[in-house]
Amino acid sequence: MRAIISPYFEAQGPLQMLYRGYFVSHYDVAKRGQQIHLGLIDAGCSTEVASLPEGGESSLHESILSIHDAQYIDYLQSAWANWSNMPNSSAEIFPNISPNRHINQFNQHPVALAGWYIGDAAALIGEHTWRNALGSASAVIEAAARLKSGELAVYALCRPSGHHACQDMAMGMCFLNNVAIAAQSLRQQFSRVAILDIDMHHGNGAQQIFYHRDDVLTVSIHGDPSNFYPFYSGFAQETGFEQGEGFNVNLPLPPETNEIAYLEALNTAGNKVLEFGAEALIVATGFDTFNSDPLGCFELESCSYYAIGRMIRSLKLPTLFAQEGGYFVPALRENVRQMVVGFES
Ligand SMILES: [Zn+2]
Repeated sequence: MRAIISPYFEAQGPLQMLYRGYFVSHYDVAKRGQQIHLGLIDAGCSTEVASLPEGGESSLHESILSIHDAQYIDYLQSAWANWSNMPNSSAEIFPNISPNRHINQFNQHPVALAGWYIGDAAALIGEHTWRNALGSASAVIEAAARLKSGELAVYALCRPSGHHACQDMAMGMCFLNNVAIAAQSLRQQFSRVAILDIDMHHGNGAQQIFYHRDDVLTVSIHGDPSNFYPFYSGFAQETGFEQGEGFNVNLPLPPETNEIAYLEALNTAGNKVLEFGAEALIVATGFDTFNSDPLGCFELESCSYYAIGRMIRSLKLPTLFAQEGGYFVPALRENVRQMVVGFES
């Protein structure tokens, strides 16, 4: 399998985040990128660094704007410069107030914009956030291009992740929704595209972006949001809206879900993809379902990823893996290897 690597896959991630009331060091550490990269090499992938798509910078922006709101993209590009111009500004943009049910007038002040465009305290913006997010999107755009040119499987090493990013809002360590950008790109060639999200957390961004559409199926297997991030979405009754009704599938699972129960859910998800008639598949690939993950609550083991990769392959679709979460760094390399080898077995 070919792997397309973001040019900034080893870059320093955000410095801190808020987790259940505590400020903690951010979990998207640079070592994650290194370990995933090594896992891809161990699995025999040929790796290439993403370059600008054909058509250059403007074509890259066009792909991003096919999914994201233009004002939001302007914000991401200019946020750091505007924030750092404030006296005594912090090293990262951390929203301390957000619009809510009762106060929601738009305001251009950098503090107000932070709350408007950043949905939670895990998606902090620093000096290189835009550069890194752009590199991550480049990887997935190039991977989609390879699929369109006839390759059967490509792995995009994206960092930062993307599946929590909404059309006009960053959240959950995500700024640009890589899987959504890839889906839109693949739609140029494939009439029906499915996104299968196997990260520990609900793929709320892809759900939001495609909620009203019937040409992109979104299926997510994740920890039950009754007691798990992102708390406000990911429930089974969220099935799509209007034309999109029936084209969003959530499969929430309880804490301590093991491999047997997980594979049952994956089988259900796979059947949904096949019933939909998908012509191409994007896998939002998270490893935070691993039993030791600090941000997870499932009980998968390294060999579980082999079984998952194998089951995904049984769908017999052109497949794009896009990197999402996975924060237990010591096992990441092996878990990535198992997934790719399982897929290719
Ligand atoms: Zn996750």
